[in-house]
This record gives sequence, C-alpha cells and structure tokens, in this order.
Amino acid sequence: MNQLLSERILNMATSATLAMAAKARELRGEGKDIIGLSLGEPDFNTPDFIKNAAKQAIDDNYNSYTPVDGYSELKQAIITKFQRDNNLTYTPEQIVVSTGAKQCLANVALVLLNKGDEVILPCPYWVSYSDIVKLSEGTPVEVKTSISTDFKMTPEQLEAAITPNTKMIWFSSPCNPSGSVYSKRELRALADVLQKHPQIYVVSDEIYEHINFGGGHASMAQFEDMYERTITVNGVSKAFAMTGWRIGFLGAPKAIARACNKMQGQITSGANCIAQRAVITALNESPKKVQYMVDEFKIRRDLILNLLNGIDGFSCNVPEGAFYVFPDVSALFGKTFNGVLVSNATDLSMYLLEEALVATVTGDAFGNPNCLRISYAASQEQIIEAVSRIKKALEG
Ligand code: PMP
Ligand code: GLU
Repeated sequence: MNQLLSERILNMATSATLAMAAKARELRGEGKDIIGLSLGEPDFNTPDFIKNAAKQAIDDNYNSYTPVDGYSELKQAIITKFQRDNNLTYTPEQIVVSTGAKQCLANVALVLLNKGDEVILPCPYWVSYSDIVKLSEGTPVEVKTSISTDFKMTPEQLEAAITPNTKMIWFSSPCNPSGSVYSKRELRALADVLQKHPQIYVVSDEIYEHINFGGGHASMAQFEDMYERTITVNGVSKAFAMTGWRIGFLGAPKAIARACNKMQGQITSGANCIAQRAVITALNESPKKVQYMVDEFKIRRDLILNLLNGIDGFSCNVPEGAFYVFPDVSALFGKTFNGVLVSNATDLSMYLLEEALVATVTGDAFGNPNCLRISYAASQEQIIEAVSRIKKALEG
C-alpha cells in the first residue's frame, strides 16, 4: 500500500518545546491550573514604540509583497545594529530577513548541506537544530558536555568531533537551553581549532544576545579569520518580546545570503510586511530601551536558582544569559514519587506536569537526557509557586 506521508516527515521529531506548550494549553482548557515553564517566550508585551510603528505601517498601506530578503530600510537597520552592537560590518547583499530565526536556520541548512554532511552540535543544543539538519539530509554529530564545563564545548572536544565530512558547527550563545555564554577567549580557542579546517562553516545563533546578565557578548564573526565562514543568526523574538511577529535575520558571506534568498523565494517569499516595518523601529533604537526586561529576567534567574537549589536532586549551573535553567536531575532517576517511577528526564517532566501541574521540557529534546529545561519567562509569583509545587511533588 502506498504510504501517505513522506519519509521526511515521518522521520522528523515534533518540536518538544511546542508540543509541551500545546499540552499545557490543552490541560488548561480542561480547567487545570497549569504553570507553563516550558516555552521560551518572554511574558512581556511588545513595547509600545514598536506597536505604534506597526500601526503606522498599516495606515501607510504597507500591504504588498516585500523584497524576498527584506525591505532595504530594514536591511539598513540590521547593518547598523550589527555594526553598533557587534562591531560587524555587512553590506545589504549579505543580509537576509526571514520569518523568524528558525527560518534563517532552515535556509542555511537547506542551502549548505548535502546528504551525509556532518554538523557538529555541542549538547545541549536548541531543540530544532537536530531536526532541521536531518531535514536537509545532514548528519548531526552531538558533542556531549556536562555541568562540569558549564555545558560548553572545549577546543579538544571540537577537534575530536571533526571528520573529513564536517561541514558546519551550530551553537547558540547565550545558549538555549543552558544559559551558558561563551566568552571571547573561549570562542577564540574554538576558532583556533577551526584554523586547521578551513572547509568548516559556523552558524552562530545570537538570538539571546541582549539577555546577558554579565554583559560582554562576543560574536564568532568578529574574528577576522572567521568572518568569511560564519553565518550570524539573530532576531527580535526574545529581546523585544516579539515572538509572534516572526522576524529573524542573518548576516553571511554573499554567496550564502544569495542562496538563502533564492530558497526563501520558492518557499515563503518575504517576511510579513507590517512586522518588518515595526522591526526597523525596534532595531534603530538603543538596546537600552528594552533593558528593563533583561533586568527583570536577572531577578527571576536569581530567584529560581535559589529556590531550585533547595530541592534535593537538582543540580544547577549559573546561567549567564537567556531565560532558562537546565538542572541536572539524574540523581532522581530510579526513584519513585507518589507511586510513579521516574527513570529519566522525560518521566520526570511528565510526572511534574501531572502531579505538580508545572510544564517543563525534558533535556532529551536538547541532546542531554540528564537534564530538565525550565523557562523562567514567567512572573516571580508563578516561579515561586511552581518551584514550591515541584518540591512538594518530589517530597511526597
Ligand atoms: N534559536 C534559538 C536558540 C531559539 O531559542 C529560538 C527560539 N524560538 C530560535 C532560534 C528561533 O526564534 P524565532 O524563530 O522566534 O526567531
Ligand atoms: N525557542 C523557544 C523555545 O525554545 C520557542 C519554541 C520554539 O520555537 O521551539 O522554547
């Protein structure tokens, strides 16, 4: 019998973050008081100055298809942003605006990978990297890290993972899900390894750039010798609380940007016109304008770390950025709580959902089965209540 669905989709995992968010929504619909700490989505409203720009764009009749790679004014705002915040110089032909950073990543994978090309993914990695690579017929190569190195890949690990088939390395800093931030020195040490392997490209996902509690964001492309083989991906979802507006962008060598433009031209065309106009306003402002959200995330980080450290079996690194904690919970595996055996992080995440009514995401989805990802993009009251419920469920 003919199979309805393609091997491509049958082999793809459902996004665990989105699946957990949907499950939490469903349970809430049944009247359950779920606290959602699963989705990486700021709980702030999009700032008024950005909303006003969108309203103006509607009144100004921005309603037509945009250039596939974005309005030229937006590309100019992105160029200014890269120069101002990252000391990176790009020309308009090197910039592509897409429907979220997710589409930027998908474009890059689709235009650079051939069957069997290997992509090194330091674990934990953001949930969609692995499936986007597989969709593009690439082979993910996971490099395991642990809490003992703050979940960062060492130069020795990178060297050991490289084979003649290695095409790219993908990583995020600040990292979703560990919150780890690579310093300039650490990036340089990785770049030194790559010097010996000039065929390898780097995807530097910097979408959490501004949500950095220690300051000092470093970009791989800042190194002169890496600039020509780095694709810098960024977007407005996180720092500007604009997840639903769906705008991301990349800066890349011209040939890669041109290929992404071609890919996007056949799949989605340009990103939403109103959202693009609003993002021009967002990026032309100083990032200081949205610092109040970062300040609040830092307060919440300290709060949740303090509370989680009071739970037996939770072992946390100190995340320096993004809005996640990624506790190692392996000390709890094999134990029974309220008659439920917890054998792994997925069991624990399901148990906490059902017993504590708190939604988290299993570390499995991020390539680290010892951990649990908890998003603290929630109010302080919700965080306090959620951790108290988790504690109670694990004491029972
Ligand atoms: N990269 C990372 C590390 C993320 O956490 C996200 C969150 N969705 C994305 C990319 C994609 O962001 P978006 O498509 O909303 O721009
Ligand atoms: N990046 C967010 C997360 O990791 C949003 C969900 C998604 O796009 O998968 O939760």
